[in-house]
Amino acid sequence: MAGLYVHVPFCHAKCWYCDFYSMPTNHRGEAWFKALVNEWHHRNSEVNEPFTTLYIGGGTPSNLPIDTLASLINTLRKPSMEEITVEVNPEDVTQELAHALTNSGVNRVSMGVQSLIDSELESVGRRHSAQCAINAVNTLRKAGITNLSLDLIYGLPEQTLDTWKKSVHGVLSLHPEHISAYSLSYEEGTRLTTRLKTGKIKETPQEVCSEMYHYLCSALKNAGYNHYEIANFALPGKQSRHNSNYWNLTPYLGLGPAAHSFTDQRKFNPPSLKDYIANNGLIVKTEQETYAEKLNDYIMVRLRTSQGINPHQAASLFGSEAASHIHNTATPYLASGAMQQTPDGNLRIAEHAWLVSDGIMCDFMIV
Ligand code: SF4
Repeated sequence: MAGLYVHVPFCHAKCWYCDFYSMPTNHRGEAWFKALVNEWHHRNSEVNEPFTTLYIGGGTPSNLPIDTLASLINTLRKPSMEEITVEVNPEDVTQELAHALTNSGVNRVSMGVQSLIDSELESVGRRHSAQCAINAVNTLRKAGITNLSLDLIYGLPEQTLDTWKKSVHGVLSLHPEHISAYSLSYEEGTRLTTRLKTGKIKETPQEVCSEMYHYLCSALKNAGYNHYEIANFALPGKQSRHNSNYWNLTPYLGLGPAAHSFTDQRKFNPPSLKDYIANNGLIVKTEQETYAEKLNDYIMVRLRTSQGINPHQAASLFGSEAASHIHNTATPYLASGAMQQTPDGNLRIAEHAWLVSDGIMCDFMIV
């Protein structure tokens, strides 16, 4: 099995915290689509296994004209695909879009709600209100979307534990099958970071972010969600198959500027729409990864999941020395309770320590 990812590099406007590769216009949408179809025809044979998932992300796929989005899905869709996900923004969700998605075979929608407090949405340049997100969920449900993932952000400017609780419970009342929750990060070059540096906003204290995260984990656990990756929660059987493929080292092909692939080796398309269109979609580059980089990638990806690292898999992929390194590094963390051994012998970071997992992962890195 393999995954197929498409990066749509357009948004209506740039959210103030975002450093993903996207531009606030879609006026080159037609040229991008033509180049993408060409890239697909040239590169789909890089993966020998059937594609079981398709994920159209970005950027904002719902910023594309509905006809273009439907043509894109119809071009890429294969009978072997069990999960077809499209990312949407709440302000784009109309009955027409929702029906176009279901008619094109989309069976999962991921939507950025981020907060259900309007002033918090405004504070990071989101273009929708809380009510708009609620209406969008209802519209998608009425059109037949039965697998819905909603995103939240904690640590927003002026967000408090009380307002966070309102957003968490508001989202739970919408009964999504999947919830992703990210900590706000201040990336260089974003408008939000400029506002922070010029004193217009203040960063949420780390201890408040920590309380928010722990509240989220406990509220979602009580509501029946399985916390299967640091930032991801799912009702039973509703884990994202596409993202799980990344964490399980399943091959995937990424199309579009700034998309990454993992086929026989790691590859990437440089983040340039101009070059992408000028070269008819064929700008892929190969990453020259060292043994250490590959091992570090593997450890980081696996330690983000509730399954953790399987020592036998680590040994077969990277040799017995790497497996010993993982075991020895984990030993003091197992003793302190920050890591655990699962019944099948895997080594994982304990849920209560996931918020400080960066420090733990650093200890595992080799040079
Ligand atoms: S809609 Fe998504 S990709 Fe686009 S600017 Fe906002 S956060 Fe970034």
